[in-house]
Amino acid sequence: MLRARSAVVTRAFARGYASAAPPHALVFLEHRQGSLDSGSLSALTAATQLGGQVTGLIVGSSEQVGEVIEKAKKLQGLTSLLHSASPQYANSLPETISPLFEKLLSNNSFTHVVSAHSSCAKSILPRVAAKLDVPAVSDITSLEHDAASNSTTFTRPIYAGNALATVRAPSSLALKFFTVRSTAFAAAAEDGAGVEAKVVDPVEVSDVPTEHISTTLTKSDRPDLGVASRIVSGGRALKNAETFEKTLYPLADLLGAAVGASRAAVDAGYADNSLQVGQTGKVVAPELYVALGISGAIQHLAGMKDSKLIVAVNKDPDAPIFQVADVGLVADLFEAVPQIIEKLKQ
Ligand code: FAD
Repeated sequence: MLRARSAVVTRAFARGYASAAPPHALVFLEHRQGSLDSGSLSALTAATQLGGQVTGLIVGSSEQVGEVIEKAKKLQGLTSLLHSASPQYANSLPETISPLFEKLLSNNSFTHVVSAHSSCAKSILPRVAAKLDVPAVSDITSLEHDAASNSTTFTRPIYAGNALATVRAPSSLALKFFTVRSTAFAAAAEDGAGVEAKVVDPVEVSDVPTEHISTTLTKSDRPDLGVASRIVSGGRALKNAETFEKTLYPLADLLGAAVGASRAAVDAGYADNSLQVGQTGKVVAPELYVALGISGAIQHLAGMKDSKLIVAVNKDPDAPIFQVADVGLVADLFEAVPQIIEKLKQ
């Protein structure tokens, strides 16, 4: 049964230089269209568990920073806030933002650098860590900081979530980088007393090797898959895009749920790539996850098996999804789903 983790691996980093400084985390606060990303809010919560100072960093064009700065100042757990604005930061290119991190880390006494495990931060943090010749720990699900020894111990899933690695960054490592799995930490609230925000001069970069061409935002009235408390997901069994929509969407609407999909459903064109759940899609942990016609391949389970209540409908009684399901229905989904909808309407 995949819910029971099968192995624990322990590893320790020993590079870097000695430090006895109390924790002071620099948290990268990502934002979009005037709102702070929920993943960054979870990263902030993780940073507060270090038990020291927590400084947030907001980066963007002046317009973007202006839109979000007041919200960021009120984040629970922040002890200070830095912001840096430049047209070069507008599209979050790692080549332009990384030098700002390098400057901040060389001029200040930060002990930890923290971010969400987002596409953007995954491009920036390892780049900066490599420049500074220190390791980065990615996708952590828990952490413990020992003030006496000044070492930090992280847990992170490996092998598509089938084992948990325990990774210790000892005190000899003065600067510790880590990215945070957002489903493992609650989002920090935006109702704090408010901290002072300080401007940091941008580091202008010439000869940027990449160019931002365009951004396409998916518009949807449904809850965002990454943070939804209920998700209805469909697999290859849904046959085509039309049946996927006709079968899943009425149920998702009734439940107020986001829609997700297996990779097979995405690859076959039934659903947009942004809806993919799994190892190479989104990792989710909603209150309710309904899997319709999804076999439960290990790569799919990696993205949803921490859901609180898993309901699976599959006509194959031996489908692996039933090994993680709390409620399993062996049935043809095209018969079962209309009946479930009828019952819910009653
Ligand atoms: P299938 O495995 O084909 O399962 C379809 C299921 O529907 C079967 O169990 C069948 O019994 C059931 N069924 C058929 N008809 C009906 C019906 N009428 N009523 C009820 N049940 C029915 N997959 C992901 O989902 N997410 C990922 O992120 C992901 N990443 C991957 C990364 C790598 C490197 C690799 C190699 C694979 C990855 N995959 C991922 C693919 C994964 O291995 C599976 O191929 C995929 O999850 C299968 O999707 P599925 O369950 O929809 O399809």
